[in-house]
Amino acid sequence: MEFERGEAVEPEVVAQTLSEKPDLSMIAFVHAETSTGVRSDAKALCAIAQQHNCLSIVDAVTSLGGSDVQVDDWGIDAIYSGTQKCLSCIPGLSPVSFSTKAIEKIKAKSSKNYSWFLDLNLVMDYWGEGAKRTYHHTAPVNSLYALHESLLILKEEGLESAWERHELHHKALVAGLEALGIEMLVPKDIRLSQLNAVKIPEGIDDATVRSTLLNQYDLELGAGLGKFAGKAWRIGLMGNGCNRKNVDYCVSSLGAVLNELGHSCDVDAAMSAVENAYP
Ligand SMILES: *Cc1c(COP(=O)(O)O)cnc(C)c1O
Repeated sequence: MEFERGEAVEPEVVAQTLSEKPDLSMIAFVHAETSTGVRSDAKALCAIAQQHNCLSIVDAVTSLGGSDVQVDDWGIDAIYSGTQKCLSCIPGLSPVSFSTKAIEKIKAKSSKNYSWFLDLNLVMDYWGEGAKRTYHHTAPVNSLYALHESLLILKEEGLESAWERHELHHKALVAGLEALGIEMLVPKDIRLSQLNAVKIPEGIDDATVRSTLLNQYDLELGAGLGKFAGKAWRIGLMGNGCNRKNVDYCVSSLGAVLNELGHSCDVDAAMSAVENAYP
């Protein structure tokens, strides 16, 4: 199913397609779409999958730790994330989870698996419940210690509090950016907190702004991708980096650079807008 970049996966279209094609057995989608800052409704999509006897596979690389993800409540069959986004850990590991239905499907697989590394039957023999000690790969123990610590930090804050923190700083950032005259790329109801995609103001050169921010302010904005290349910036507020200091710094330095390049904007007003967004 094709959806426009910058728009959420439409549950109605998925439901319609699954009704028309009863032989489909799985749907896969990205929950927090980082190239455009769009959140799709994972709960609704997984419910539709269940209604049509389909398994659901969810990319939660950027959502885990930054927004609401309910693996069991939403009936997600297979879900994977990454350690380097909102978990604020080193990169390299991918937390995963599989439902009983997904495990049954994996175990019942009769065709040959051509991947050793991604053969879940082999992997489950390695770390599954009641698994005998077999060899699959050498576990990256240092990374596992790092993940353990990052999860403890998240637990100390509280998962719900972390989601709220992402939302709070996202709203403050949006208030500041809008006061600088910068528009958000996607509508409010599908915006991610952790990835803020904005439209590059008319007449402003994308590369100049990003390189000036990087070289003079030590601040890196993500470039637009696909049809938004040269038209959008992507501002991450993920995990540990999602804090007021970074929001303040982003708004003030971006405002200063835009002013330097002739896009006149009121940085003081933008800083007040940020200030007012905090309780
Ligand atoms: C960052 C990201 C990825 C890529 O993760 P890697 O660990 O670099 O492969 C995949 N999906 C989404 C939604 C992401 O945000």
